[in-house]
Amino acid sequence: MPVTHRVVPLLSLVAVGALTLSACSDPAAESGALPENPSVIILSGDGMGSQQRTAIQYHSYGLDERQPMDALPFAGMLDTIPGDPEYAVSDSAAGATAWAIGQKVPNGTTGLGPDGDSVPTLLDMAKDRGMSTGLVNDHDVTNATLAAFGAPVADRDLKVEIAEGYLERGVDVLFGGGEKYWYPEGDAGRIPDVGEDDVSEGTSNLVERAEELGYGYAYDRDTFDALAGPRALALVQDSAKRRSTEIEGYDYQNDPHYVAPEKLVAKALDILGQNDKGFFLVIESDDLDSDGHEHDAQNMMLAGESVNAMVQVITEYQKEHPDVLLIVTADHETGGMAIENVLDDGEPEPNSDQIADDPVPYWAETPENMPLPGGGVPKRSGPFTIKGTDRQFKVDWTTPEHTGTMVPVTAAGPLAERFTGVHHNTHVYDVVTELFGN
Ligand SMILES: [Zn+2]
Repeated sequence: MPVTHRVVPLLSLVAVGALTLSACSDPAAESGALPENPSVIILSGDGMGSQQRTAIQYHSYGLDERQPMDALPFAGMLDTIPGDPEYAVSDSAAGATAWAIGQKVPNGTTGLGPDGDSVPTLLDMAKDRGMSTGLVNDHDVTNATLAAFGAPVADRDLKVEIAEGYLERGVDVLFGGGEKYWYPEGDAGRIPDVGEDDVSEGTSNLVERAEELGYGYAYDRDTFDALAGPRALALVQDSAKRRSTEIEGYDYQNDPHYVAPEKLVAKALDILGQNDKGFFLVIESDDLDSDGHEHDAQNMMLAGESVNAMVQVITEYQKEHPDVLLIVTADHETGGMAIENVLDDGEPEPNSDQIADDPVPYWAETPENMPLPGGGVPKRSGPFTIKGTDRQFKVDWTTPEHTGTMVPVTAAGPLAERFTGVHHNTHVYDVVTELFGN
C-alpha cells in the first residue's frame, strides 16, 4: 500500500510535468504560429538593475500603476558575468557581445568571439534575412553596446572605426549623439561644441561619406522631422548634455539639437517598418549607466522615464504590428545602488562614503554627487517622494563601478515567454536566433 501511494502521485506528477512542458515549450512552433517575417527590438537600460527599475517605478509611477517596462507580459532574470579569466563583473562591451553573438567573452571585447575572432552578430543575421537594421542611443551612437552588434572591433574605444564599420555594414538607421567622431579635427560639425570633450576627433568627414551612400542626415529637430529613410543618420544632442540642466541652467527642452529618445525610436520604427521582411533594432539608454557611475540618482530616474517613454512608443507600435518581439533588459548594474529609508527610528540613515566615478561631469565645475561629511545624503541621492504618497526614500551606492548582480528582463511579442525564469545573458541571442529560425 505505501508503495502504491507513493507511485500514483509520482506518476501524476510526471504526467502533469509532461503536459506542462509540451504546453509551454513550443506552442508557437507546433502550431506554425511563429511569424514568417518577425521584427526584434532589444532595449538596454545600461546599468539598469532591479534597484534602478524599482526607484524609477516609485518616483515616476508610484505604487498603483505599473511602469511600462515592467508591465510587459513576461519577466525573468539574466546573469551578467562575462567570459573573463579574471573578472566577475561585466563591462558593457562583454554584456552586449553575449547578446549579439551568444558567447560570453572577456571584458572589452566588442562583438568579437572569445579569441578575438569575427563571428556573425544578430545584426548580420538580420541583414542576411533581408531585414532592415537600426541602432539608436540616447548618448554616443558609437558606444560599445551598439558596436557589439553593428561594428565589431578589437577595442571599444575605436569610435571612428566603429562609425566607419556601421557605414560599411550598411546599418540602415543610426540615431544618437557622439557627433565628434563623425567629423575630422577642426570641423565642429553642426552642433555647437561645448567644452573640450565636444571637440571633433575624427579623421575624415563620415557624414559626407554617409550622404554619398544614400543616408539622409539630421542634426536638429527640423532636419530630424524631415528624415524619411530608407537610410538615415541623425547625430543630435548627446543626453550627457541633458544632465547639465540644473548645473548650468541649460534647458534641453529648448535646445534645437536635442531630440527626445522616444522620438528617435518612433522615427526608427517608421523607417524600419517600411521593410516587409521585418527589422532588427537595438536601442540603448547609456545615460542610465553614466548616472550610476556619477552616483546621480536624480538623472538616473530621468533616463528611466525616457526608457519608459520608449517602451510606450514600442508597445503602441506592437498593437498594429504583433510580429515584433521587444526585449527590455540591461547589460549589468551600475553603482551598487540601493533604495534606503531616509530615517531609521527617527535617526538619519547615513550614506556610504563611496566616491563617485566621475563626480564632475565635463560640462560642470563642481561635484554634486559626492558623499557628504558624516554620511549626509548628497543632493542627487534624495530624498525622493514615492509618487502619490507622503513616503520618501533615498539611494545609497556601494561602488563607482559596475556590479555583478543578475538583472531583470521583460518582454512582449513572439517568443517573449522564453524569458520567464533565470537564464544566462546569452539567452537573448538564443531566443532571437530561434525566432529567426536559425
Ligand atoms: Zn558603465
